[in-house]
Formats: sequence, structure tokens, C-alpha cells
Amino acid sequence: MAETVTNWAGNIAYTAKELHRPHTLDALRALVAGSSRVRALGSGHSFNEIADAGEDGVLLSLDALPPRIDVDTAARTVRVGGGVRYAELARQVHRHGLALPNMASLPHISVAGSVATGTHGSGVTNGSLASVVREVEMVTATGDQEWMGRDDARFGGVVTSLGALGVITALILDLEPAYEVEQRVFTELPLDVLDTETFEAVMSAAYSVSLFTDWRAPGFRQVWVKRRTDRPLPDFPWAAPATEKMHPVPGMPAVNCTEQFGVPGPWHERLPHFRAEFTPSSGAELQSEYLLPRHFAVDVLHALDGIREAVAPVLQTCEVRTVAADDQWLSPSYGRDTVAVHFTWIEDTRAVLPVVRRVEEALAPFEARPHWGKVFTTPPARLRARYPRLDDFRGLARSLDPAGTFANAFVRDVLGG
Ligand SMILES: Cc1cc2nc3c(=O)[nH]c(=O)nc-3n(C[C@H](O)[C@H](O)[C@H](O)COP(=O)(O)OP(=O)(O)OC[C@H]3O[C@@H](n4cnc5c(N)ncnc54)[C@H](O)[C@@H]3O)c2cc1C
Repeated sequence: MAETVTNWAGNIAYTAKELHRPHTLDALRALVAGSSRVRALGSGHSFNEIADAGEDGVLLSLDALPPRIDVDTAARTVRVGGGVRYAELARQVHRHGLALPNMASLPHISVAGSVATGTHGSGVTNGSLASVVREVEMVTATGDQEWMGRDDARFGGVVTSLGALGVITALILDLEPAYEVEQRVFTELPLDVLDTETFEAVMSAAYSVSLFTDWRAPGFRQVWVKRRTDRPLPDFPWAAPATEKMHPVPGMPAVNCTEQFGVPGPWHERLPHFRAEFTPSSGAELQSEYLLPRHFAVDVLHALDGIREAVAPVLQTCEVRTVAADDQWLSPSYGRDTVAVHFTWIEDTRAVLPVVRRVEEALAPFEARPHWGKVFTTPPARLRARYPRLDDFRGLARSLDPAGTFANAFVRDVLGG
């Protein structure tokens, strides 16, 4: 490429020979039909090579397409274009008195790219962001358009697809009536308070709960509790209310974060931790995340506590969330209620990778599935064993994309065969 194009974090320079930004759907279809290797690029917030097309391939960004957001208030759905980000989607949906059930920690990411990697927020009853997708419009390798809905036998593969089946040009999402959320932060929750029952009680205390630790001590520095105001106010006896506004990364300004201290506000201004108009997280970082069966949660936390002296020096913050089971074959939360353990590392790949391996060794007994969009070193054979519907996905990829137009090195590694 004439210019160096990197991901948001700057740790990956895409090697694709060209980056195209088509202005029309027809131009996008022609580009796909005329290329032997193509990958869609979302907002580039993944921390690994998942989006790259390789040196003989072409990257397609959808950010120059008209940003379509068509809300159907009667059906309570929205049709959203393949390049649209959550911040804009959420504003439009809210303007119509409607809402999404959940959001990730930041609204800066594209909808299509997020659901492609199994991106999620928190909440024991909240599935990954892919759970609300009811239809997918995709441009396949021939340049043709296909619509696939929930009643299509292929649907389990097409939302969390790692970009390996085609370019998603639109999605239809389920909505619900708009609601308000208030957010409170509590501090210092000791690890030894958390047996299985208490962990469940803490994580179920409100609509969305996150625990944060720097692993410098065995416990959680912060607990973020996001309550829908149409549900009861939880009693939260396990930690003390914060006395000042907080950022999950120690030392970062709380002004970047969504409103706290129980001030009610619209769902899309409370469910993400970070405000749309500021840099999310710390900005200078790498990330990893592992999704595990929720019934292992307390054992998982103790396993991590056992290696905290290795983890803490390269860690900015670690977040623990829950995700309800979903039915996308390649979703890290496929078929199991999940505890997700996320790591915001320092921005130093050489120092971080050995610790990522330590974390993966510690989590090996607990069937950990890494987040597809973050840094991991799990061997592909081990990954494959953790996805019971992988063969179905491979079959779908062969039928929709027989020449492997959308397969890059990352996808070939993961799918094998
Ligand atoms: C600061 C920060 C905070 C984060 N917080 C969270 C969080 O709270 N929860 C969480 O789960 N993850 C989180 N992530 C990870 C992030 O949600 C994922 O990496 C997500 O995939 C990013 O979406 P994107 O649009 O940037 O995708 P990209 O990184 O651009 O692409 C990811 C994949 O999607 C595919 N893709 C993109 N667009 C399309 C399309 N139109 N059609 C087909 N395939 C497409 C790409 O080919 C690629 O395979 C965070 C990342 C950052 C940087």
C-alpha cells in the first residue's frame, strides 16, 4: 500500500497490497468480484491480524458508503449499513425511542466488525452483540448479494464469521423500548469474598456488572454496577461506594468515562465505559481476553491470582464480565453462559507475549476461548477443539466461498484443513 495503514492500537501494519473505500454498493460488488483475495476492514479496533488481507490481497473499508441507519419503529428493528459504528447507530436508535440491549465498553467500533468477532458487553442475561442480529446482507465472492435470516440453516455461521464468508453490507438488529441506566462504582472487593454463590450474586446484582483489578493484590479495585432504572436498586454489601469518579485504568482521567454516581441517563451513554468523544481505554495498549464457562469463574480467578506477580508488571487493568450463551457457531460464548476475563496490557508486545502464554497455561484447564479480535497464542488445534460446530462453519465457508477469496492467514490457521 502507498500509505501504511495500521489498526487502532498501532501494533499491526496491514500488509494488503491495496486499501479501497468504495462509495457505492455496486463499486464494492465489482471490487469483490474482480479480486482473488479480499478482506473487509471495520474500524480496525482488533489487536491481531484478523482483518488483514495479506500481501496478495485487497482490504475493503466500508466507511465511504452512505451510512444507512433505517429504524422501523413498528417492527422495533434497525437496518444498519456495514460501515456504521455503534456511536452513530445508538444515537439514531435512541432518537426513535428505542434501544439496543447491550453495548461493548466503547461505542467507537463498527457494528459489522464487532459482531464478526463475538464482541460483547457484560450482564448475566445479556448475550454477545451478535445475539440481536436477525438478518445479514452479504456480498459473496462472486459479487452477488445474499440475505440470510434466522430461519436460514446457515445463520449460525454468518454473523460471527471472522470476515471469512463475505463482506457484510447491512445487518438488521432487534431493538427494544429505550430505557435509562444509572452507573455506580464500588471499590475494594476482596477475592476471598467470592465463592461461587457470591460471584453469581455480585454479577447478577444489576443489568451489567464489571470487576476491575490490577492484580497487584488478590481482589478487585473497582466494581462497575450499571442498573436499569426500570429495575430494582440493588443492595451491594460486598464493597464500598467510590468517593470520586473513576477510570478503569489507574491514572487515566475519569472525564473520558461515562457518568457515574447514580446519575440516570440514556442506555447508550451508560452501558459503554468510555464516552464516544474521547479516546477509549488508555490508547497506548494491547488487549487479550478469554471466555470460559461461567461455572468455572471462581477457580479461574484463583488461577489468575496464582500468577499475579507475572501478570501485574505488564498489566494496565483486568476486567471480569459475564456473557449469556449464544448460538453463533464461532462465538466465544457459543452454547455456554460465560465469564470473560479481559486484560489491557502495556503497549510492549515483547514483554506482553510471554505473560499471555502464562495466562493461557493457567486457564488451560477451564476450556478458555480467546477473543477473536485480541492478542492470543493458543495453538490452532487447541482452539478448534473448543468449537463443536467448527466443521459446520468450514462447510459453510466452502459452499459460500469455494476459492477461499475471504480466507486470510489468520482464518486459515484457525480453521485448519
Ligand atoms: C479500546 C478497545 C476496547 C474494546 N472493548 C471491547 C469490549 O468491551 N468487548 C469486546 O468484546 N471487545 C472489545 N474490543 C475489541 C473489539 O470489539 C473487536 O476487535 C471488534 O472486532 C472491533 O470491531 P472493528 O470494526 O474495529 O473490526 P476490525 O478490527 O476492523 O475487524 C475485525 C473483523 O471483522 C471483520 N469485518 C469488519 N467489517 C466487516 C464487514 N463489513 N463484513 C465482514 N467482515 C467484517 C474483519 O474482516 C475482521 O475479521 C475493544 C477494542 C478496543 C480497541
